[in-house]
Amino acid sequence: MSNEQPRLFGKLEEPSVESYQIERLEKAYVSFLPGIKMEESFQDIEDYQDLHDLVIECQRCRLRSSCQQVVFGDGNIHADILFIGEGPGQDEDRQGIPFVGRAGQLLNKILAAAEFERQEIYIANVVKCRPPGNRLPSPDEVKECRNYLEAQIRIIKPRIVVCLGSLACQTVIDPKAKISLTRGKWFIRNGVKIMASYHPAALLRNESYKRPTWEDFKLIRDEYKSLKARQMRCDDAYNG
Ligand code: SF4
Repeated sequence: MSNEQPRLFGKLEEPSVESYQIERLEKAYVSFLPGIKMEESFQDIEDYQDLHDLVIECQRCRLRSSCQQVVFGDGNIHADILFIGEGPGQDEDRQGIPFVGRAGQLLNKILAAAEFERQEIYIANVVKCRPPGNRLPSPDEVKECRNYLEAQIRIIKPRIVVCLGSLACQTVIDPKAKISLTRGKWFIRNGVKIMASYHPAALLRNESYKRPTWEDFKLIRDEYKSLKARQMRCDDAYNG
């Protein structure tokens, strides 16, 4: 694991209702993604639409010159669960929405099987512009674009983050993480629970990933239901 992030893999503990309430009231924010410099992650932007408008005009890396449009993200901007993929593909580049191609359709099926409505979640990618020929984004492209992801996470404030595939896993959890070893385990950072699983595109290439992916999504579903139950208890306690 990276020496830069010695406390990356914190002990997983079930927060009490009381600690959950305290967490929600916390004002201080430290960066979420490993290696982010606070001054480069658009700390002055607090509004979702402002960030969106900034990002769709971005030309900070070479990917913008070969794609049709910036694919910012999609879903409920107040979502408690955020799914993060790698980058837009051809269909996403055409439509301006993440996960709408074959991999996106498979993700929709997995989400439906795990009882998630696409409207209740938010989906984004590590890089917002399509790499030509669907190549992997280069480290410098990731380094540039992850500042936007950091800002998205700060504004949306998810309680659960799911990394889909190796690049998301390395960008969010640890730069040296291996998806095969990291998937299916909960990590906690800044009070947010994080899990990695295989990218749906990998499932299309390799059927053997389907079973472990489903095992991961059952854990994610259970954690999300548990979170919702805790939130209901909190609301009931607050409302007397
Ligand atoms: S990939 Fe990200 S950093 Fe590069 S041009 Fe697109 S939005 Fe900007």
